[in-house]
Amino acid sequence: IFDKSLGQHILKNPLVASGIVEKAALKPTDTVLEVGPGTGNLTVKILEKAKKTVCVEMDPRLAAELTKRVQGTPYQRNLSIILGDFLKVDLPYFDVCISNTPYQISSPLVFKLLQHRPLFRCAVLMFQREFAMRLVAKPGDALYCRLSANVQLLAKVDHVMKVGKNNFRPPPQVESSVVRLEPINPPPPIDFQEWDGLLRILFVRKNKTVAANFKTQSVLDMLEHNYRTVMSLRGVEVDDGDVEMGDVEESGGNNKKKKKGKGGFDVKEKVEEVLRGTGMGELRASKMDNDDFLKLLSAFIDAGFRFT
Ligand code: SAM
Repeated sequence: IFDKSLGQHILKNPLVASGIVEKAALKPTDTVLEVGPGTGNLTVKILEKAKKTVCVEMDPRLAAELTKRVQGTPYQRNLSIILGDFLKVDLPYFDVCISNTPYQISSPLVFKLLQHRPLFRCAVLMFQREFAMRLVAKPGDALYCRLSANVQLLAKVDHVMKVGKNNFRPPPQVESSVVRLEPINPPPPIDFQEWDGLLRILFVRKNKTVAANFKTQSVLDMLEHNYRTVMSLRGVEVDDGDVEMGDVEESGGNNKKKKKGKGGFDVKEKVEEVLRGTGMGELRASKMDNDDFLKLLSAFIDAGFRFT
């Protein structure tokens, strides 16, 4: 009866459900957003504590079941259900988010929440254990990755409790964990797309040096393209050197080199210069923290580079 493709694993242990709701420290004035209420085991506990609960559920059968469950109770008028895909619906205002999440949308779910404005106070979310451990991982931890750095740029993240698979029906294949997210408010004044663009490059091979990751031809091509765009927007001409007969390297075949004269702009040299300036070329993403990434990003931006 449960739809595996929708990650339908109902939390059957009432103690775990109560624990999750407690960790949210709800106030009687709160509006709570619940993603994927299912049959409503968390919802009924939220309704007891909050002023208003808005659920987003994709499965109309379960939405109907939940409606029925609260019908005729004093909480009926405090509950509204948005029928649809959480990733596609417009979110209403909410103070707190609580969810035993459908695991297949974990990552976009987190970023949709963190990009929502105004910012919420906190979110208490159940995830698959490994995903949860990635969210909280610190530089040097085996699971530290782009996701860790991105989430921790935007929120304080804490591991709240482990939840074994037998607390669910049907039991999922993997263990679970509950985490608590508290958005950093106000958020750091950073262009998140640029930040993420830099981190994508550095975490392709997180144990390689920054300098090595910046030697990839596709990365250099992207950087050169964006650099030229920035310069042309500024009305600055990029020095392509003295192109003379004989100096010119013809592009052709698989040879991707651009026509370039002596002493002109060379993206590889320019990137090396930026890295030298920061002294970070020999660091590795696996051990770098968000301050390191920020310094590196602003050095590249200052030099006219962009990552998107
Ligand atoms: N909250 C319930 C509980 O703890 O017992 C059920 C949790 S179950 C892990 C995930 C729920 O999310 C299911 O009810 C499923 O139908 C719903 N769901 C799956 N994908 C969804 C999506 N993209 N948007 C909204 N709900 C979704």
